[in-house]
Amino acid sequence: MKQFAVIGLGRFGRSVAVTLSKMGYDVLAIDSNEEKVNDIIEHVTHAVQVDAMDEQALKALGIRNFDVVIVAIGQDVQSNILITVMLKEMGVKKVVSKAVTELHGKVLEKVGADKVVFPERDMGVRVAHALVSKNILDQINLSPDYSIIELIAPEEFTGKTLGEGALRGKHGVTVLAIRRGSEIIISPGAKHMIEKGDVLVVVGRNDKLKNLEER
Ligand code: ADP
Repeated sequence: MKQFAVIGLGRFGRSVAVTLSKMGYDVLAIDSNEEKVNDIIEHVTHAVQVDAMDEQALKALGIRNFDVVIVAIGQDVQSNILITVMLKEMGVKKVVSKAVTELHGKVLEKVGADKVVFPERDMGVRVAHALVSKNILDQINLSPDYSIIELIAPEEFTGKTLGEGALRGKHGVTVLAIRRGSEIIISPGAKHMIEKGDVLVVVGRNDKLKNLEER
């Protein structure tokens, strides 16, 4: 079972820590602010009040042995970068750091963060997509050109099979799954009928997906 440590229990860090814990993972939550620690103590495996800039204190927590350490400090860019460097120097296998700007993200990559996340930017993109399309529910960017989207089946496709809707042929996208209420149909075939209210999970090029979104 993977063990996670989350440093910084602001809105983002807290949400990551509590979610991992709900998923059944071991989570050590760290913040220098006592209140933040007390607020999360019931929801994670361990929560400690530690200044993560203190290398000895981090070592004493055995931070090296965690599979993934998330640096979720946002406002204090300097601490965020220095802690990322320190964790990599201590030999932490996977360090995931939160960036607030593109430049900050580049610095984090250069100092060795294994993964850089931009929660505000990414959530902005998601919300914007959801606002302009009445059908789109969620989006995962696979690369700058390709994504997976979850959308409510556009009307023109309902009552038709996937083949008749020509999603792959004419629209150039592939339906990975269909969600119908609590039922999930994985890898549906061309003969599969799309019903009103179905949620389609679709992969494809962003320009092709955009055509679909705007229907
Ligand atoms: P968000 O934008 O996700 O709410 P913030 O940057 O506001 O994130 O919150 C960061 C959290 O990290 C705060 O709770 C703060 O107390 C904590 N924090 C900041 N610096 C340190 C540090 N050196 N050691 C431990 N926790 C820290």
